[in-house]
Amino acid sequence: RKSVVRITTGSQALDELLGGGIETLCITEAFGEFRSGKTQLAHTLCVSTQLPIHMHGGNGKVAYIDTEGTFRPERIVPIAERFGMDANAVLDNIIYARAYTYEHQYNLLLGLAAKMAEEPFRLLIVDSVIALFRVDFSGRGELAERQQKLAQMLSRLTKIAEEFNVAVYITNQVIADPGGGMFITDPKKPAGGHVLAHAATIRLMLRKGKGEQRVCKIFDAPNLPEGEHVFQVTSGGIMD
Ligand code: ADP
Ligand code: MG
Repeated sequence: RKSVVRITTGSQALDELLGGGIETLCITEAFGEFRSGKTQLAHTLCVSTQLPIHMHGGNGKVAYIDTEGTFRPERIVPIAERFGMDANAVLDNIIYARAYTYEHQYNLLLGLAAKMAEEPFRLLIVDSVIALFRVDFSGRGELAERQQKLAQMLSRLTKIAEEFNVAVYITNQVIADPGGGMFITDPKKPAGGHVLAHAATIRLMLRKGKGEQRVCKIFDAPNLPEGEHVFQVTSGGIMD
């Protein structure tokens, strides 16, 4: 039996919300508007995953699948320094790939599984998990096929999480929710429908606050504590 590892987000408030950090063996999703901090949380996890266990890390390597071209190695450097780690060593332990179509994204996952069988990985990032699906299946009549392929992708991610004791961190977009109710202004919901809702164990809803502040809430988990937690997005990564 594999035992779960919790990896710090860099923010104690966020970690508390998560029960200690993002967990291996399952999928953690973050969704929110542009600049809400989804990618900077990914950058932070790239570093914190490499910390030793006693420092709330995962003592493992990171795989990063980037569908939007927003990964910035130079953004890793100040985060590594903040955690007192050597930036070059940290970068060497991040396997990075840019995906250009949903099929490419899926094939990259197949290739990663082979790598993970050989080396100790603790984190897999897919930023964003859905963007290419929304491009590749943009026609109105293609929704059913999109959801079917998305389900396939997510089931592959779950399998990787369980087989290699890896934390899977995926990001998602928000879309307009016309069913949000007449009293809610500008209602939004995560993309991906029930397929994504079913696959993600923890769903983090991020939004912008004042300045560097961001607000995080657990979305749609009746058994988890309610309430909003505030964190900061800085060049040193996510922090309180
Ligand atoms: P998202 O992925 O949700 O669109 P990002 O994580 O990319 O959001 O951005 C979150 C915030 O981080 C933005 O306000 C952006 O201005 C800020 N940001 C981007 N790059 C840096 C950086 N190098 N240092 C500090 N903050 C940055
Ligand atoms: Mg982003």
